[in-house]
Amino acid sequence: MLQQAMIISQARESYYEKAIFHAIRGAIILVVGLILLWVEHSVVAMIKSSMWISIAVAVPMILITLGICILLWAVWVVIQSNRISYVTVGCPYCDEPVQFTAQPTSDFDCPYCHRHVQFEDGFMLPVQVVECTFCSAKHRVSIKAQSYTCDRCNQVIKLTTTAEQEAAQPRADTYYDVILTQAGRNADEVAMALQSIMVCTLKEAKMVIERLPAPVAQDIPYIKAESIRDQLRGLGAMAIMIPGNRIPT
Ligand SMILES: [Zn+2]
Ligand SMILES: [Zn+2]
Repeated sequence: MLQQAMIISQARESYYEKAIFHAIRGAIILVVGLILLWVEHSVVAMIKSSMWISIAVAVPMILITLGICILLWAVWVVIQSNRISYVTVGCPYCDEPVQFTAQPTSDFDCPYCHRHVQFEDGFMLPVQVVECTFCSAKHRVSIKAQSYTCDRCNQVIKLTTTAEQEAAQPRADTYYDVILTQAGRNADEVAMALQSIMVCTLKEAKMVIERLPAPVAQDIPYIKAESIRDQLRGLGAMAIMIPGNRIPT
């Protein structure tokens, strides 16, 4: 089972909590050990049995060593928290890079814009740019959203979902964009396909893959858009088609 991807700041927080817990425990044991060491002479003077004397001498040393070890462990946990490897995913709403402990496959709340980023079948759902029909403000909205309340003029904008758009009969006069939302497992093959689709270098194609979702073809006829989308899907990538005018270039 793959470990659930966690936002790196949250993962670090749990490391810090663990480190603080260890540090407090280590410090208490160390202090108790030091107190016992301090009173050792008077305790030893009172004891007659040699066995109990060796225990009275050993116990503070054991506690001090244990306390120091636990404190060092806490330091090690903090060092580890800064070494967590991460995957960067661009928030589809605010474009801020969000760092995860692994490739995210389920919904998360963006720590920058606090919007809910949705996933379906392990893939991030792309967003569409919607222009408010009342005040012309542009908003990024989930393709699953059926309506959106404009945060500038408070008017409700009705939306058609991408599924509805895809189900609708293609119109000859409508041009489409192909949006690549996830590269999938064969990112190298997808990059090579993008090279010919976008007429660019392999390096440029890889740069596109690093910041998804991204349009890979724009304002092209339905048939052509469909074949590009299917080609990308065939390589294990996730791609969708949306009418060209929905996403400004
Ligand atoms: Zn965001
Ligand atoms: Zn508005």
